[in-house]
Amino acid sequence: MANIILLGAPGGGKGSQAVRLVKQLNIPQISTGDMLREARAMGTEMGLLAARFMDSGELVPDEVVIGIVKDRLAMEDCANGFILDGFPRTIPQAQALDSVLGELGIALDHVIEIAVPDGQIVPRITGRRSCPQCKRPYHVQFLKPREGNLCDDCGVELIQRSDDTEEAVTVRLASYHKKTAPLVDYYKKAGKLRVVDGVGEMEEISARIFTILA
Ligand code: AMP
Repeated sequence: MANIILLGAPGGGKGSQAVRLVKQLNIPQISTGDMLREARAMGTEMGLLAARFMDSGELVPDEVVIGIVKDRLAMEDCANGFILDGFPRTIPQAQALDSVLGELGIALDHVIEIAVPDGQIVPRITGRRSCPQCKRPYHVQFLKPREGNLCDDCGVELIQRSDDTEEAVTVRLASYHKKTAPLVDYYKKAGKLRVVDGVGEMEEISARIFTILA
């Protein structure tokens, strides 16, 4: 059983590490970013509302994301644990999470901050690509596909997220520092915070995380 929050700046590797944790621990990844993108692709009212904020790099209003996480945590597959990736991102979201977990009788085990210097964020994000079919992540510089711009597994043309532009990243980083970084202190005070150096090879960072979970 592991109830985990991954904290850290956008592009800092939360999503990639979450995917590895899912495989190892066999618990679901709860990514509010992925859920919002799905809602948007389906054209739901909530997805279309969220899209405006996402494209400009702003945070989606708290009540929207709190609602979707609340519903998701109540699902059966979260009974043995979960990895929250990209939630909470504000103090009100963290407080709402505390009360939802309290109602469900669940305790948080680990809040892991993946720390990456700001200077590395922009090149990491703007070079990011992924396979639209299997979602495998790539990077134009650090994690190139074998051939051209094609997924190694599916052979499909890789895509770039609409908010992985330099303009949106600047806004995303600013909102991270203003609204999300205070969560580091919030969880430090709660005695839950563990910080992992997010610079290095993906395997090294996974190993650092597994040392904490062991
Ligand atoms: P991500 O995939 O985690 O980088 O999230 C992409 C975008 O979705 C963010 O820039 C926000 O606009 C929105 N988003 C995702 N999670 C949250 C959250 N917990 N609170 C507010 N907005 C969010």
